[in-house]
Amino acid sequence: MSKAPSKGICILGATGTIGVNTLDVIARHPNKYHVAALSANNNVEKLEQQCLKFSPQYAVMVNDSAAEKLERNLRNAGNGTTVLSGKKALEEISILPEVDYVMAAIVGAAGLLPNLAAAKAGKRVMLANKESLVMSGKLFMDAIRDNRDKGAELLPIDSEHNAIFQSMPALVDGEQQKAGVTKILLTASGGPFRTRDINTLCDVTPEQAVAHPNWVMGQKISVDSATMMNKGLEVIEACWLFDVPEDQIQVVIHPQSMIHSMVSYTDGSVLAQLGNPDMRTPIAYSLAYPDRVDSGVEQLNIFDVARLDFERPDFERYRCLQLAYDAHRIGGNATIALNAANEIAVDAFLKKQISFTSIPLVIEKALEQAPSGTPDQIDDILAQDLASRHVSNDYLAAL
Ligand code: NAD
Ligand code: MG
Repeated sequence: MSKAPSKGICILGATGTIGVNTLDVIARHPNKYHVAALSANNNVEKLEQQCLKFSPQYAVMVNDSAAEKLERNLRNAGNGTTVLSGKKALEEISILPEVDYVMAAIVGAAGLLPNLAAAKAGKRVMLANKESLVMSGKLFMDAIRDNRDKGAELLPIDSEHNAIFQSMPALVDGEQQKAGVTKILLTASGGPFRTRDINTLCDVTPEQAVAHPNWVMGQKISVDSATMMNKGLEVIEACWLFDVPEDQIQVVIHPQSMIHSMVSYTDGSVLAQLGNPDMRTPIAYSLAYPDRVDSGVEQLNIFDVARLDFERPDFERYRCLQLAYDAHRIGGNATIALNAANEIAVDAFLKKQISFTSIPLVIEKALEQAPSGTPDQIDDILAQDLASRHVSNDYLAAL
């Protein structure tokens, strides 16, 4: 049997939690995968270490002076990686012929354009950046569908969506995946404040909010988990990925984070995917699909899982979750506004400019101001994103 050629991987957001975990899985399989390109915003030291270890052809730093510094350090170390800078370079590395798979792991709206470029270029997009689907679900799914003949495919990295994908195995081939599906049960840990007195939520600090009970993640998604906006974004992500309406998605609080999501079928079956909470499982699944490879994750010892609990979410405690359901029901401009306002509000909370309970207030303001309708052109999507950021910043300035 001939050996499959090694796949070239581009990691957008290589220095983040998902990027680092992706490199960990790749390093376990040097004959199957090689790193073709890496990107980061401005963390020179980390990207430099990664370039020295993996010798990609290209490295992008969005920040110009960071790129110059990286270039200098790599040359001094005798490393031959070509360093590029600027946002446009993110799109350039996503479409390189030597790239087979793109790990879309930039946080926030900044990931949208390079992810779209990868889809249009017929790459396997391993999507961690849920914000792309929240902002431009139809456009993004169309880009994948329209470029399937070039090889475009979408594999979800979000652990819940990866679990759903594994429980709906026909998805990649097209439309029959929904046959017999009655509900998607999207699990959530409930975050660090699940049992905290709701009247004291206004006092929580960024340090407390980012201390997630089960997962180690970047700061923004950790705050999103505490407000459960993360689950709200994931409801919208699931609607687009699996082509179901939001009322078919039931959020289930499952504090142990062992079941990563479930799918209910009309014959009474419920399929679930379980595993230790470690992002290397969905990453390895998406790299190897339809095969399986070692991810470095410890096998789940079912006897150690003493119990599994399930609760309905409290929409008063998790106001952001309700806002996400509402926004998706209203349409595209509302979900763009939701995402943009959330990014602004979380950033302000992390900088201690606003309280934890002000986050949903900023989002409500942006939703009120968003026009109805769903834009289908990228320029209109980006214009709405910008407009909602202005509304949110003006509101913050007046607080
Ligand atoms: P992180 O903050 O740890 O890393 C973000 C990465 O994006 C870094 O490499 C950073 O350099 C880069 N970046 C940040 N701003 C940028 C910009 N303006 N332009 C270009 N690059 C920029 O985040 P993370 O936890 O790795 O999450 C990344 C994405 O994956 C997010 O969309 C998140 O919602 C999603 N996700 C993460 C997890 C997780 O367990 N961490 C799970 C599911 C989904
Ligand atoms: Mg998730």
